[in-house]
Parts: sequence; structure tokens; C-alpha cells
Amino acid sequence: MIARVAAQNTVLNAVARLDTVTVARDDAYQCVLAADVVSPEDVPPFANSAVDGYAVTLADMANGAAELKVSGTIAAGGAPEPAVTPGHAVRIMTGAPVPAGAEAIVMVEDSQRVGDDHVKLTARVQPDQAIRPAGDDVKRGDTVFRSGDEVNAAVIGMLASMNVEHVDVTRRPTVAVLSTGDELVDDGSRLGPGQIRESNKTMLVRLVAEAGCDVVDYGIVRDDEGKLEEVLRHAAQHCDAIVTSGGVSMGDYDVVKAVLGRIADMQWMQIAIKPAKPFAFGELDGTPIFGLPGNPVSSFVSFELFARPALRKMAGHTQPQRPALNVTAQAAFNRKPDGKEHFARAIVTANNGVLSATPVSAQGSHQLAATALANALVILPDGNPVAPGDSVQALLLSF
Ligand code: AMP
Ligand code: MG
Repeated sequence: MIARVAAQNTVLNAVARLDTVTVARDDAYQCVLAADVVSPEDVPPFANSAVDGYAVTLADMANGAAELKVSGTIAAGGAPEPAVTPGHAVRIMTGAPVPAGAEAIVMVEDSQRVGDDHVKLTARVQPDQAIRPAGDDVKRGDTVFRSGDEVNAAVIGMLASMNVEHVDVTRRPTVAVLSTGDELVDDGSRLGPGQIRESNKTMLVRLVAEAGCDVVDYGIVRDDEGKLEEVLRHAAQHCDAIVTSGGVSMGDYDVVKAVLGRIADMQWMQIAIKPAKPFAFGELDGTPIFGLPGNPVSSFVSFELFARPALRKMAGHTQPQRPALNVTAQAAFNRKPDGKEHFARAIVTANNGVLSATPVSAQGSHQLAATALANALVILPDGNPVAPGDSVQALLLSF
């Protein structure tokens, strides 16, 4: 058996970041920038008011209070007119351009209208108060985002704000997903003797998409070497990576093993973990292949630990692994010394800022029902059970 970290390093070192492509801004969502982004414009483009209020001169407000004539109103999107002159205030709205002569904005909460066209202002006013200068967020020529940054929702918003219409990103990997097994049924038909419903491919299609990849669903491939070879060669030609489930352990009908052993350059690993001990990794015609075990929970854990980080590295992420966080065991996590690191599926909750983990009710590698709503993998090093109150490390899958 090999250590989990060694297996992860083998896989991560064997895959490379994909090529750089130029894409329209909206298509860059969840991609990783492959070049720095320099702003072509000032944001905001002009000095504007941070509040709804009155534009004034400092001299008029020197005593902390003044009654001024209101000489006009400027709305957001309007022209910066009229200019502010001594003895006058200009009504101004949030985001409206600051007129000439304005040295500060007094917020409307500090005002009282007097008659039709006067206002009484009571405020200690600082120079440039409530005025946002042009370029206060970003100046033209600033490097705002760097190669390696992920394009999240706010980044997309900022790109729009700067009028950046195209960006260079690492190409999103296209990943083939397939399951293998003569026992699998996915068309809703009545189960025959020995048949079961397919679940892994259905799950993996979503896990691959959640990892930020495009998916090609190759469906169920029967335990037939000729057919499997044809599908795998097609996938290797058309995709950046292949994820398979089933057929990588020691059974007589483990056809993935038979076929890939013949046509691809593979490492058949026995990893010192539970679940997901068998795992295969290699290349077919230069395309990385992740051979996940068939038991559904093993498939899930194996994808998380080995395939997901590699796919994210290919997509350009510089920190492709999930961080391990300290959490407090809320209940006992049972295990015995067996030379393996255990990845217990758990529910992590936050109570007053403290993260607590409770194991899901069933920990068998065939019991996907209990794992399905887990949001964490708690790492149990080889050894004895973990008692309630003990600190353990967990990989948070979602929160
Ligand atoms: P294998 O690794 O092919 O020997 O499969 C191990 C176990 O996982 C067997 O009980 C299979 O029936 C089950 N299995 C394999 N592939 C799938 C799948 N795609 N969906 C659900 N169960 C599967
Ligand atoms: Mg099988």
C-alpha cells in the first residue's frame, strides 16, 4: 500500500495546466486567469457623491452650520451643473457627478429645507467629505487581477466595471466520464437477477462539473474489452481527461484493468486509505485517466482526493487541494488500527464560530445514502477511535 499523500503527489505531478485561451467575459466564470488584467479605465470614471446631500464650499460651512440658497439639483447620470458658488448649495444624489466649486458634500440627514429654495445645513465638514474621486477603486493602468486568480462572480462584475470584454484564461478541461459493469441499469427498467441501478457515473458527471470542468457523458460501458477499448480511445482523442468507475480492483471481470493494462501506461495503486483503496492512474495517448473504484462511496472519496485536485490543476488553479481545517468531534469516530488513514464522512456545523463534526450514520463503502448529505471528510489517522471533544482535521466539501 502507498501513502495517500504520495499517491496525490504522483497524480498532481503527472498533470499539467492546459493551454491559454481568450474568452468573452461571461464565459470566463469559474475559470482561472492566465494573464494579468490591467484596467483600461478609471473606476469610478469621474468624481461623484457618496451620499444623497448638498454640495457646498468649505468657507460656507466653516462655522458648522449655514443657511444656503439651493441653486440646482444633480441626479446620477446627469450633468455636473450648476457649479457651487459662495452662499449656494447644490442638491446632489448618490453617484451623481460632483460640480465645479464643490469642496464637500453634506448628507441629507444633516439638512433642513427652509422655504422653497433654501436649506439649513448643520455639520462639521472636512475637505472632500463624501466625494469619491475618479479612479478611487481602480486607476487606468492598474493591474487589478493576476494570472492564477479565479474569476468569481465579483471578478466578473469588476471586469464589466472596467469595460474588459475578453480575458485570457486557462482552458476549462473537457472530461469524459463513464461507468463500467454488466450489472448496471440506468434506463428505469425492471431489474433482472443480479442487476443494480447505476449511480456513480450520474454522481461523477456532477462532481466533475462542480470541479469547474465540461463533461462528456460516455454512459455505461459493458464488461466487454473490445467495446471498452473503443470508448476509451475515443475519449482519449476528444477529451482532456477520463474518469472511469469500477473494474480497477482484483476481480476476474475487472475489464478496465485488463484493457488499460494493455493499451495505456497505468499505475495500479493500493492506497493506505479507507474507503477507496484501489485506484488507477495513467495516460492513454497522453490523456490522463483516473480509474476510480466501483463502490459508490469509494468512487466519491477517490474523486475528491485524487481526481478533483488534478482536474483543478489542469484548469489552472494554483491551490488545487481542499484545505484541511481543525474541527471538534461532536461524537465518537470509530476505527481500529489497520495501517490506513480513514476518511469518515461527516456533517460539520458551525456553532458560535466553532466547527463541530458528527459522523454520518453508516460508513460502509456501498452506503451512499448516508454519505450523500455529508459535507466533510474527517481525516482519521491510523490508530484508535477519536473521542467526542477531540480535535480532528476535516476537508470541507461544501458549507
Ligand atoms: P467493481 O469495482 O467494478 O468491482 O465494483 C465494485 C462494486 O461497486 C460492485 O458492487 C459494483 O456493482 C458496484 N458498482 C460499480 N460501478 C457502479 C456504478 N456505476 N454504480 C453503482 N454501483 C457500481
Ligand atoms: Mg465491475
